[in-house]
Amino acid sequence: MRYDAIVLGLGGMGSAVAAHAAQRGMRVLGLERFGPAHAHGSSHGRTRIIRQAYFESPDYVPLLRRAYALWDALAARTGTVLRAQTGGLFVGRPETPVVAGTLASALRWQLAHEVYDAGELRRRYPMVTPRDDEIGVYEAIAGAVFPEAGVQAHLDVAADAGAELRFGAPAAGWDAGEGGVHVTLADGARVEAERLAICAGPWFSRLAPELELPLKVERNVQFFFAPLDRDALSPERMPIYGLQRDGGRLLYGFPDFGEGVKAAFHGSGVEADPDALDRSVSENEIAEVRDALAEFVPAAAGAFLRAAPCMYTNTPDEHFVIGLHPQVPQVAIAGGFSGHGYKFTPVVGEIVAALLAGDDPGFPLALFSPTRFTNPSVPADSA
Ligand SMILES: Cc1cc2nc3c(=O)[nH]c(=O)nc-3n(C[C@H](O)[C@H](O)[C@H](O)COP(=O)(O)OP(=O)(O)OC[C@H]3O[C@@H](n4cnc5c(N)ncnc54)[C@H](O)[C@@H]3O)c2cc1C
Repeated sequence: MRYDAIVLGLGGMGSAVAAHAAQRGMRVLGLERFGPAHAHGSSHGRTRIIRQAYFESPDYVPLLRRAYALWDALAARTGTVLRAQTGGLFVGRPETPVVAGTLASALRWQLAHEVYDAGELRRRYPMVTPRDDEIGVYEAIAGAVFPEAGVQAHLDVAADAGAELRFGAPAAGWDAGEGGVHVTLADGARVEAERLAICAGPWFSRLAPELELPLKVERNVQFFFAPLDRDALSPERMPIYGLQRDGGRLLYGFPDFGEGVKAAFHGSGVEADPDALDRSVSENEIAEVRDALAEFVPAAAGAFLRAAPCMYTNTPDEHFVIGLHPQVPQVAIAGGFSGHGYKFTPVVGEIVAALLAGDDPGFPLALFSPTRFTNPSVPADSA
């Protein structure tokens, strides 16, 4: 059997690529080393933040608008709840990158938002305790997406559209030539296709070492605490939030969707080996997050319930890597999602499926160029 496309890795991105490629009528083979919607990579832990006023760069906003539309279409098609619109609150002094960047994106794209001073914040959201010199940017359309449910929904759509999905099927490597692409599985079997998409998350560099992408895999832990006031922290009352204080890391968190309140710091600086991720958490790590919660959302700083270690795959500029393989145009790549990729999975799936089909991806991809680290373009006036 020769496939039109093999999708390597069926996590957040790969499940979406398989769904979109199969819906285009391609004969798709999906290969996943673990089971469906597993907890060994980057797409687990019940919730991910979704928002449009994007502090990382306003250039993501068109992608986010498309992602929202695709999330809602996927939810309707599969009859599952994939997104909760709780509103989102980003708090800090006005000049902090998260607050200033959120506002810049909102203004550039005329996204609905409100700006509150500390007094107004306390009045509207009595569960948070901003300092007097802090402000909050509120975006009503922000909220949470549910990663395990999202992966499963994409897998279901892919299978419905005729994709063959193999789990417990680790790929050992691939090669490409005139005749197409061959993937060798760990058991020695070989499968072939016209095209290949590599969506291997934290294992990306193992499957495309020739690209020499400067990716760093980072351990990041999600913590769940028992809310001290369940009503105040319900999704009906509590928005998702981010707080950047004293030049420190972003603390972010969610309301209680039924498993306690989840909170974490964005970015740890702790490098990880994806095959040997430290899944234990120390008392210090728990205390660090709980102390930060006690200061900003005191009702969230209850008893520790559980932790879910996870991995970021970071690029130096924290922008994604999406495009055709620079040396092998039959291969599309999607990696380096730098701890903020999950919300984009449906639109990345749509883009990569278009690349596999040789079509226009519909969005400019220069920001995500796989060659930007080795061939940074020289601005004309500095030449
Ligand atoms: C703690 C944490 C919090 C985050 N918070 C947010 C957030 O709030 N909002 C947001 O948008 N994003 C967030 N992210 C980022 C987001 O979750 C990731 O960017 C996204 O899940 C990455 O998806 P992926 O498909 O690249 O990786 P994965 O979902 O890990 O998928 C890669 C898949 O490839 C498979 N694979 C690897 N090697 C092989 C092989 N050889 N053979 C077969 N299969 C293979 C793996 O098993 C895995 O299933 C967060 C990430 C973490 C860790």
